[in-house]
Amino acid sequence: MDYLFFFILGLIFGSFFNVVISRLPYGKSIISPGSSCPKCGSKIKWYDNIPVISYLLLRGKCRVCGVKISIQYPLVEIITAIITVGLYYKFGLNVYFVQYFVLISLLICAGIIDLITALDNDFETGIIPDEISLGGIPVGIIFGILQKKLIISLIGGLVGFLLLFIPGFVYKLFTGKEGMGGGDIKLFAMIGTFLGYKPLFFILFLSSFVGATIGLFFIYLFKNREYPIPFGPFIGLATIIYIFFGDYIIQTYLKMIA
Ligand SMILES: [Zn+2]
Repeated sequence: MDYLFFFILGLIFGSFFNVVISRLPYGKSIISPGSSCPKCGSKIKWYDNIPVISYLLLRGKCRVCGVKISIQYPLVEIITAIITVGLYYKFGLNVYFVQYFVLISLLICAGIIDLITALDNDFETGIIPDEISLGGIPVGIIFGILQKKLIISLIGGLVGFLLLFIPGFVYKLFTGKEGMGGGDIKLFAMIGTFLGYKPLFFILFLSSFVGATIGLFFIYLFKNREYPIPFGPFIGLATIIYIFFGDYIIQTYLKMIA
């Protein structure tokens, strides 16, 4: 019963993240007006706005004009629901649950906005809105205070900033090109305030590794096009993997080298 409750809660939050994702990068308000079809502009009724279920009933099309609705909507809802249930399963209902839920929520929004703006020709590169990265920093610090780990949280923010700023700075010094997006640096600082500095090395390693692998695959796939590969989704993915499996992965690694 608990799990069903957290699954539905996750669906509802995922539905809200979709609103954030589809409006924030375009400078639109996330509070009002209500949802409308991007093609015909007709207002979406509440019964056509039920997470996942409406998408299935409408077969992924607008009820009025029949334009295709992006698969992003049900995907974000289901992913959020699974993560919410997973967090409750792993941590129970306590301050850690809330902290990780807030962090992952910010990362889902940041990662997907980074991805869709990278693919959108209206933007030069993927963007991570400051509202999420900089806005999340004081939130991470508040969780630090709640857990009496204020210093660790502050050091985490600083280390997170430097960890991406320094390589980007060195790269720019030698090549004159922008090596690391400012949005990625701010996002990493935000993660540091939530998790402290220790996990950052693991998260950076994992996100770089997965990002580089997929990046090479894309370069191979689209030989003639230069795709700007957004780093935000990989940072988000690596952080989620750390939160769920970090302790297990690190223990296994320590056993292997012992
Ligand atoms: Zn429509």
